[in-house]
Amino acid sequence: MRSRQQLSMLSLLAFLFLLTLVLALVLFLVARTQRAHTGLPWGARIIYTDTGAWKKVERPLLARRYGLVGKPDYIVTQHGATIPIEVKPNRRAHTPYESDVLQLAAYALLVEENFGVSVEWGWLKYREHVFQVPITSELRARLANVITAMQRDLTARDVARSHTEPRRCEACGYRALCGQAL
Ligand code: SF4
Repeated sequence: MRSRQQLSMLSLLAFLFLLTLVLALVLFLVARTQRAHTGLPWGARIIYTDTGAWKKVERPLLARRYGLVGKPDYIVTQHGATIPIEVKPNRRAHTPYESDVLQLAAYALLVEENFGVSVEWGWLKYREHVFQVPITSELRARLANVITAMQRDLTARDVARSHTEPRRCEACGYRALCGQAL
């Protein structure tokens, strides 16, 4: 027959085992909730983040060749692919905004330049949807045109307004100085 001391030890070990299981379950649920909130795919390994939610904020990425600087929200690797992710938690839309697609394409160039990999797609996470955006040669050409136009505008004396949205002008910090405000 086992002594009282042995039984107490077994009870303690069983309790510690159960406690470890409960803690592991709680940590798993917390991690799953956080990941669901960010929209990150399961199985993806984070190699860079700008949100500070998972690890410290990294420095901006630089691509001198394109004159680009930026900080993607996340860069993950999954099944050998390197994927930039942009999270817009307050955006509600059924199709991605062109400005967000171009931003993601710019991040793809930054990733390629800084990590020496080829980026085939990125993810855009809106409040209710996640979009997989292919970084096609057509999108790259569109982005190149925008970068060229922006660089040209930086040195121009007058630049034409690029939109017809009064709400953008209402929120614009240059409104007082701008001669084209709506
Ligand atoms: S106020 Fe001028 S600079 Fe600002 S968004 Fe409107 S047009 Fe553009």
